[in-house]
Amino acid sequence: MTAALNSVMVRVPGKINLQLSVGPKEADGFHGLVTVFQAISIFDEVTLTRNIEGSGIAISISGDQTHGVPTDSSNLAYRAAALMCEIHSITPDLLINIKKSIPVAGGMAGGSADAAATILAVDALFTLGLSRDEMQAVASQLGSDVPFMLVGGTAVGRGRGDEVTSALSRGTYHWVLALSTVGLSTPAVYGECDRLRAGMDVVAPHANDQLLQALLAQDAVSLGKNLVNDLQSAACSLRPALRLVLDVGGEYGALGSIVSGSGPTVAFLVEDEDQALDLAVALTSSGVVGSVARAYGPVHGAKVIEFS
Ligand code: ATP
Repeated sequence: MTAALNSVMVRVPGKINLQLSVGPKEADGFHGLVTVFQAISIFDEVTLTRNIEGSGIAISISGDQTHGVPTDSSNLAYRAAALMCEIHSITPDLLINIKKSIPVAGGMAGGSADAAATILAVDALFTLGLSRDEMQAVASQLGSDVPFMLVGGTAVGRGRGDEVTSALSRGTYHWVLALSTVGLSTPAVYGECDRLRAGMDVVAPHANDQLLQALLAQDAVSLGKNLVNDLQSAACSLRPALRLVLDVGGEYGALGSIVSGSGPTVAFLVEDEDQALDLAVALTSSGVVGSVARAYGPVHGAKVIEFS
């Protein structure tokens, strides 16, 4: 018989949206989406440790992106642990440490990533042996970006983004990320999008074939031209400085630039690591960004990296 595990550490990436097409607002207040996600090499590490009986779920946050991350039951990792324990009749006595590197409220799905990591960690810690589909079903109850963070790579998300199908993508893409010190609220950005589109005829969204073709052909130039985000105007309307950030990328020869998700992170696609370094230096010295990070994608979704 194997001894029970005491602790499991899961590494999980952030994401950017290469395409984010937003349909009309539906009766329930949500929007139908078609999005193309790419998981990129900025990671949180979520460690789940068994705690003494009766202690409940406790959250601690460490790392370089701690500001604004709740340590109570509103943390998505807490919610994921509570839901998994409820479904599988496990007494929820757990310590969760989240080492955060994914920018908070940056449109990179950091909270969703931590929820996905927690689902995987509970499965491993209690040797539940869940299938990918079973974990996806729990993930979609927690948020529309959570299912993608379990799979990672490159994928098309439909519905609210939670109906995920892996997409064929060849090669590695290099990104420079312009990060803001202050996040943007996702509901506020959708609200601004609705306001800007009031009176317009908004059609149901479709996957962008040229973009998918570019990923298949490993054609970074074409990918750069086909990046599209329907929330970009709304994010720029709420945060006009984002337009200046987007302009700097254009001046320094980025292949494409896009606000990630609901922003305010701006992602620039570049040719290689050398161009990434040049653009990172230009953005830093421009004074229009909070900080800059470099990343590549696609990378794996949530993955167990240590256990004891
Ligand atoms: P969204 O998924 O809504 O698009 P986002 O990707 O822009 O959000 P997140 O980093 O997920 O941004 O954080 C959004 C908000 O969720 C934060 O401001 C914070 O209050 C809350 N939150 C809950 N759990 C977490 C978590 N584990 N990490 C970060 N933020 C969290």
